Amino acid sequence: MNIHEYQAKTVLRDFGVPVPRGIPAFSVDEAVKAAQDMGGPVWVVKAQIHAGGRGKAGGVKVVKSIDDVRKESQRILGSTLVTHQTGPQGKEVRRLYIEEGSAIDKEFYLSMLVDRESSRVAIVVSTEGGMNIEEVAHDTPEKITTITVDPVANICPHHVRRVSKALGLDADLQKQMSPLLTNLYKAFVDTDMALLEINPLVVTKDKKLICLDAKVGFDSNALFLHPKIAELRDETEEDEKEIEASKFDLNYIALDGSIGCMVNGAGLAMATMDIIKLYGSSPANFLDVGGGATKEKVAAAFKIITSDPKVKGILVNIFGGIMRCDVIAEGVVAAVKEVGLKVPLVVRLEGTNVELGKKIIKESGLNVLPADDLDDAAQKVVKAVKEAA
Ligand code: GDP
Ligand code: MN
Repeated sequence: MNIHEYQAKTVLRDFGVPVPRGIPAFSVDEAVKAAQDMGGPVWVVKAQIHAGGRGKAGGVKVVKSIDDVRKESQRILGSTLVTHQTGPQGKEVRRLYIEEGSAIDKEFYLSMLVDRESSRVAIVVSTEGGMNIEEVAHDTPEKITTITVDPVANICPHHVRRVSKALGLDADLQKQMSPLLTNLYKAFVDTDMALLEINPLVVTKDKKLICLDAKVGFDSNALFLHPKIAELRDETEEDEKEIEASKFDLNYIALDGSIGCMVNGAGLAMATMDIIKLYGSSPANFLDVGGGATKEKVAAAFKIITSDPKVKGILVNIFGGIMRCDVIAEGVVAAVKEVGLKVPLVVRLEGTNVELGKKIIKESGLNVLPADDLDDAAQKVVKAVKEAA
C-alpha cells in the first residue's frame, strides 16, 4: 500500500527523522490558511498524488508570497498531472501539501528497500539526487552505492561512515547522518515498509540534513499489524478494478496490454502472460482466481476484465485441480449474460470436470473460440484481436 508524501513525512517525523514543517490542504482556502499559519517568507505548494516526477510536471512550486500560494494552489488543485510515473492518462490532484521552503545547497538520493537476494534491508544512496534515479542507474551506475544491513545488528557506525563517504559528507554532516539513518531504518522496520525513497535528501545552506521528499510503500500483508497506517489508505489513488478485485479476494494486477487473462494459479498466470508475449501481444492484467473459487467469484473476475476498455480480447486459461472447470464455465456464462461480450473470447479448459465445463459453454450459445492447449489458445486470442482491430 502506498501513501501520500505528507503522510509519509508524518510517519517519519514520529520516528525523529528531520522533515520540513508542512500542513496538508484539501481546498485553496485551506492552503492559504496553512501558509499564513506557518509563516513565510518561502513556501512550497506540492501536489499530493501517488506518483513521483511532480516537479517536472509543474506539481511542485516554490513561492514567496501568500498571493502566489493562492495562485499556484488554484492552478494545481483539481488539475491532472502527467508524470513519468502516472502513465499518459495522468492523475487528478485532490490534495495539496503546503510546506516551508528550504534553501538547498545539495540534493542527494537515499532509499531503503527489501533486497530479496541478501534477505536484508538495502540502503541505496547517490550524490545524484532530485532527478530521475532510473536514469542515473542506467547511465552512470557507478554513482549509486548499495549497502545491506544485518537485521540482528541494525544500523552501525560503519553504515553511517559508508553512506557519508558515498555522499561526500564532512564530519558535521556525518554526525547528522547517524541519527537520520538509524531513525529511517527503525521507521522502515517497525512499520513494515516495502520501500522508502527520499529524493531528494538535501543539505540546506545552513548545513542541515533534511528529507525534502518522501515516498513510502508498505507491505500489504503486514498492514493488519499497523491499523493506524492502514487508515492512511487513499482509495481514490488506486486502480478501481484492483479495489473491486480485493473485495472478492482475487489476485489482480492491472497492466498495459490488450489481452485480458483469467487464470488459476500464479505460475500458470505468469506462463500465460509469457506466451501471449511470445505470440506478439501483451497482457492487460494478471488475474489469478485462486484454487477454490466460487461461481460468483469467477463472475466478478470476468466482469472486472470486461470493464477494462484496454481489453480487446480475453483468454480464459484454467487447469482444473481443486478448481473445477464446470464452476469456471458457469461463472463465465453468468457474467456474460449480465454484462455482454464485445471482444473475442478464447477458452482453454483442462482437468477436473473438463467435459462438463465445455458442455456448459457450448450449450450457453456464447461465441467462444475453443482451444486445445495453452499454445493453441494464445495463438488464437492474439490472432482474433489482430483481426478485430
Ligand atoms: P517530485 O518531483 O515528485 O519528486 O517532487 P519533490 O518533492 O522531489 O520536488 C521536486 C524538486 O523541487 C526537488 O528536487 C527540489 O529541487 C525542488 N524543491 C522541493 N522543495 C523545495 C524547497 O523547499 N526549496 C527549493 N529551493 N526547492 C525545492
Ligand atoms: Mn522527489
